[in-house]
Amino acid sequence: MPTPAEAPDKRADQRPEQRNEPWTRRRADIQFQFTQAARMNAMGELAVTLAHELNQPLAAINNYAAAAERIAGDDAELRDLLRKMGEQAARAAEIVARVRDGAHRSEVALAPLALPELVAEAIDLAMADIARESVVLHYDFDDRACDVLADRVQVQQVVVNLVRNAMEAMQDLPWRELRVGAAPDGDLIRVHVIDSGPGVSPGVAARLFQPFVTDKPQGMGVGLSISRGIVEAHGGRLWVERASGGGAAFYFTLRRAPETKRACETPARRRGTRRPRPAGP
Ligand code: ADP
Repeated sequence: MPTPAEAPDKRADQRPEQRNEPWTRRRADIQFQFTQAARMNAMGELAVTLAHELNQPLAAINNYAAAAERIAGDDAELRDLLRKMGEQAARAAEIVARVRDGAHRSEVALAPLALPELVAEAIDLAMADIARESVVLHYDFDDRACDVLADRVQVQQVVVNLVRNAMEAMQDLPWRELRVGAAPDGDLIRVHVIDSGPGVSPGVAARLFQPFVTDKPQGMGVGLSISRGIVEAHGGRLWVERASGGGAAFYFTLRRAPETKRACETPARRRGTRRPRPAGP
């Protein structure tokens, strides 16, 4: 879930070439903002989920204590203890509600941004510790799907989550292929992240976007629920389909920014499709 709305960082939303800033410095900058936001998102998700889960048992304790107090008869000491018990449960519920309200779910600061640039940066972050040669990466950005209204850091969280999940799903496979791009979808722009992995397992498919659902030994299971919260806060939708090759095809929509006249400079045009190293010794 997103962090509280930040003041838009105008400099950060400019392209590196506009800012005339060395890429390594900008990368460190992006990495820092990204890590901060990821931490806030994970903590917020935890707080909101815990608050939601604790609310019901705390209300139940309060109700049981009140019922027990009514039938406690003449034992004033027992009635006093039960009343205190109910008060403490109500107090705990208030604390939980305060934590939940402080988590500020799904607030985003929207600005017009160039989608291909934003996605390319996110892929750099997602693949920082992955050998680039081990995956064939296709960028498919339609020229009409360039300008979006988005919170850069938050949408990058979504892309990084989807790309990391895709890479993890394909990690034991000899052939790894990832398609990332965007196309117009009515009034919106639809982004896709499609992998050549085994697809979503039936065990998690029905609860995929719920928090703490994972089939990974080290997984936290919050990536997709956070991502859905971010996309919905942008007025979009995040969903998964089965890719034609059997892998997972994740899609999300974003609102279109007012047209700019500049050409959509896609990473594909600048860098082309990446090929893996030939297999073998
Ligand atoms: P985590 O990655 O910590 O498990 P997520 O919320 O990001 O948490 O993902 C939840 C689950 O969704 C994963 O554990 C995995 O089972 C499934 N999943 C997500 N992306 C993919 C994918 N590209 N291919 C197959 N399964 C996926």
